[in-house]
Amino acid sequence: MTNLDTASIRVVALEDERLAHNYHPLPVVIARGEGAWVTDVEGKRYLDLLSAYSALNFGHGHPAILEAAHEQLDRLTLTSRAYHNDRLGPFAAALAELAGKDMVLPMNTGAEAVETGIKVARAWGYRVKGITPDAATIIVADGNFHGRTTTIVGFSDDPQARDDFGPFAPGFVHVPFGDAAAIEAAIDESTAAVLIEPIQGEAGVIVPPEGYLRAVREITERHGVLMIADEIQSGLGRVGTTFACDREGVVPDVYLLGKALGGGILPLSAVVANADVLGVIRPGEHGSTFGGNPLAAAVGLRVVEMLASGEFQERALALGEHLGVKLAELVGSGVTSVRRAGLWAGVDIDPAFGTGREVAERLLARGVLVKDTHGQTIRIAPPLVVRATELDWAVEQLRVVLAG
Ligand SMILES: *Cc1c(COP(=O)(O)O)cnc(C)c1O
Repeated sequence: MTNLDTASIRVVALEDERLAHNYHPLPVVIARGEGAWVTDVEGKRYLDLLSAYSALNFGHGHPAILEAAHEQLDRLTLTSRAYHNDRLGPFAAALAELAGKDMVLPMNTGAEAVETGIKVARAWGYRVKGITPDAATIIVADGNFHGRTTTIVGFSDDPQARDDFGPFAPGFVHVPFGDAAAIEAAIDESTAAVLIEPIQGEAGVIVPPEGYLRAVREITERHGVLMIADEIQSGLGRVGTTFACDREGVVPDVYLLGKALGGGILPLSAVVANADVLGVIRPGEHGSTFGGNPLAAAVGLRVVEMLASGEFQERALALGEHLGVKLAELVGSGVTSVRRAGLWAGVDIDPAFGTGREVAERLLARGVLVKDTHGQTIRIAPPLVVRATELDWAVEQLRVVLAG
């Protein structure tokens, strides 16, 4: 709570009193945002290197996305899926085409997309593969993060996510992340799917060994098991390709998308797959009151159109390489290691120089927003509209903070 002025202290105290303490935010009260920058209630500006965990891939208030949202706000916002609306079909068609798949099942949050993927995989397992009723299992990776519902935290191995929230749903089998042979060894006749993040985001931007995704694809194909890629954080331009699976030329059976799909404006998630998989879901078996609402569909369509040009993917690739060179210079000077994919980096801080949280707080005081994860790691995921010179400035602030 240091560095806070009176207006901010009042806001923080109000949140402290009236909000459940399920987060521990950095002490800054943001009031406005534009592009890669945000402004706090006192007018101080910060470069946003978190982008709401990649939900703001296109930056704050991207004019093209705002335009789509404003236009739709005035026309029609919600119908429920009890009726058709004129925005959902075009959005689904564009997203399916972007992913090279047949069909889309729209939801709202990422966790809902994961839950939907689990239901689809199980239904496919029973109805197509012929798994014994109620016996289907899904293979997941150690260190995963797929959201916060009770089923999902049940197959997390993070005690903070799990402890005191059980009992949990059965049917999940753990293997080490990055080890394709372990997946093959875990597969049996009850295995419906393998669910992985192509790059583990919350775990600290853990990039698996080269060839891992290709091996997972080959193994799942050979054994008749679905490959589900949770691209909620890694997808939609972040790593320099549309999907992180593209880095190895891999096409999973099922994409789970969220975060940036909503353009930084609203929650929008989706399961994208071919008809032989997603077609197993029948009317009445799954749904959501807000899923596929026309406002979200209009925003999502604009996001997909923006990604179709490849411009943002190219920016992520070039800016990421630039960032990687700059960050590498800090290794040995307060940074123990850097993992990176596109414009997405996990930076491990030498404990002698402070915790990730302390470094994030010192960066905050210098006008740079990052977020720590798992103690010693800070995660860097700037909006893809950020400039190279802004990244240079931000890394310079990190250098000063670590030198200081
Ligand atoms: C954020 C995230 C989720 C959950 O998304 P919510 O919108 O927070 O429910 C699921 N999977 C991955 C990989 C994520 O990064």
